[in-house]
Amino acid sequence: MAPKKRVCLIHTGGTIGMKPTPYGYAPAPGYMAEALAGLPELSDPAMPQYDLVEYQPLLDSSYMAAPQWNRIARDIRDRYQDYDGFVVLHGTDTMAYTASALSFMLEGLAKPVILTGSQIPFCRIRSDARDNLICAMLLAAGEPEPVPEVCLWFGGKLLRGNRATKVSADHLIAFDSPNCPHLARDGVRITIYREQLRPPGKALKLQEFGSPRIAVLKVFPGIQFDLFEKIMTPDLRGLVLEAFGAGNIPANEGGLARLLDRARENGTILVVCTQCLKGSAAIGQYETSRPLREMGAVCGWDMTAEAAVAKLYYLLSQDLPTAQVKSLMEQNLRGELSGP
Ligand code: ASP
Repeated sequence: MAPKKRVCLIHTGGTIGMKPTPYGYAPAPGYMAEALAGLPELSDPAMPQYDLVEYQPLLDSSYMAAPQWNRIARDIRDRYQDYDGFVVLHGTDTMAYTASALSFMLEGLAKPVILTGSQIPFCRIRSDARDNLICAMLLAAGEPEPVPEVCLWFGGKLLRGNRATKVSADHLIAFDSPNCPHLARDGVRITIYREQLRPPGKALKLQEFGSPRIAVLKVFPGIQFDLFEKIMTPDLRGLVLEAFGAGNIPANEGGLARLLDRARENGTILVVCTQCLKGSAAIGQYETSRPLREMGAVCGWDMTAEAAVAKLYYLLSQDLPTAQVKSLMEQNLRGELSGP
């Protein structure tokens, strides 16, 4: 008999393992091990063996940031040879950011890293945790076939991690990847869309994130850019601008020009993404994006804001010349963008 597949479950926190408290749901240390031990499905011969690594402290995913991403990535790297794949249990609120970050940090990945969680805690009768967890574990074990990517499994869909975005605060199908076909879906059996998968990497290389100063600015009708001039310091290394439609932005009486001048003087990299859920920014398509083009802003194409943030962290954490960071921002590194 073939040896059982081995999966490492990394429990970082999130609703999946929370319990009710007088102040609302909160992480419950030790509870996940108990919940898993009480799940008879996990002893089914079809299921992989697993080890649980529980973080201390367990976090609501609002607290996730570069230090936590580094820890998850290091834990995967350190255990990489011991397991067939990894499941990261995570809060849904920032799961798409963490999935994006891990996809950049884990260069050369050849094993599945599947993020999942739930909208209803495990301890509740109607919880979606059980299904999400079981399918994520099977996928991490390479069933029905290996998916050598950082992915997000939720509500019966497997999404490329750096294309995913949370689309519902309360629906059990909470995520989608509007600009990228799903990688697999649930049904009578799990169907993998093999043609959508990226090829496995050759050797895992970890790039940890530092803490470069970056920001996100969502443009809205009537935006007074002068309000944001104070953040345009030489410290600010990158700014994701969530622009209208194809990358359009109102000039608003010179306010935009001053902001762009500051960015240019300070060497701040501007990345223009679209606010639309689907489709792509395309700087230069409309006259309203001309100032961005003239100041040398980078086009984020169809990247999610989550992926753009993670990619800025990734590139700015390396000692790369600005021109190279700008050029790499527009290139497809991990399947995060479709390009022009
Ligand atoms: N606030 C929770 C978190 O992101 C929400 C969830 O897990 O669904 O940690």
